[in-house]
Amino acid sequence: MALLAVENVTRRFGGIVALADVSLALEKGQIVGLIGPNGAGKTTLFNLVTRLYRPNSGRILFDDKDLTRTPAYRIVRLGIARTFQNVVLFQHMTVLENLLVGAHSRLRPFSGGRGRKQALQMLEYLQLGEFGERLPGGLPFGTLKRVELARALAARPTLLLLDEPAGGLNHEEVGELADVIRRLRRDFDLTILLVEHHMSLVMSVSDRVHVLNFGRKIAEGTPGEVQANPAVIEAYLGAESVDAA
Ligand code: ATP
Repeated sequence: MALLAVENVTRRFGGIVALADVSLALEKGQIVGLIGPNGAGKTTLFNLVTRLYRPNSGRILFDDKDLTRTPAYRIVRLGIARTFQNVVLFQHMTVLENLLVGAHSRLRPFSGGRGRKQALQMLEYLQLGEFGERLPGGLPFGTLKRVELARALAARPTLLLLDEPAGGLNHEEVGELADVIRRLRRDFDLTILLVEHHMSLVMSVSDRVHVLNFGRKIAEGTPGEVQANPAVIEAYLGAESVDAA
């Protein structure tokens, strides 16, 4: 049984069809890449899974539960956490407090310090210890992205949605990110859906890759299969080559 199954999902915004009859499935423990040119519908899919949007038709099942009938605030409690394309942190809270929000989003009230323990553990895991008492304002962008990732992990998810984690990072940071993503799966028993424009990163960490173009799924397969697919090459022509670093 798939951990996440997106079944024939369509989402429109007025006259714009952001997703048209899209299906994809993630098996437990997989890292799955979701790629496509700008405006292909990748973030819309994340927003549908996390219930910021409702589909016009189709179903999304997580662990056999129908997410389209689940209120947004329950999504994280079910075990789904995400990061955002543009880092979204609570600016008036310290880095540690941001992580505490993540940790407490899945805990019951009066959980006897467990939230703090989980937040501190993630602070150390992502080497953010020295920033714990700092406000996000003024921290380097790469650090802010790690804070956002740590906040998602502090909720102890089973499914992690990463929306362009490499966006805005320098070459060295992108290289480190590939290792971080692989370690996350191993250390926290995670299943990961990764939206990313950085092709060498997607192709190096993903077990399978799905490709969207103008809201439609045009290809699915192993990284090698997708890179050799003529429809994918055509979709990217003029934008970037799928095998470019
Ligand atoms: P990018 O790689 O540039 O982030 P994307 O693949 O994530 O693109 P989406 O952000 O999902 O693409 O957008 C898909 C289409 O839906 C685009 O045409 C976009 O303008 C439209 N769209 C997305 N969200 C909304 C919204 N809230 N209102 C109106 N149109 C929207």
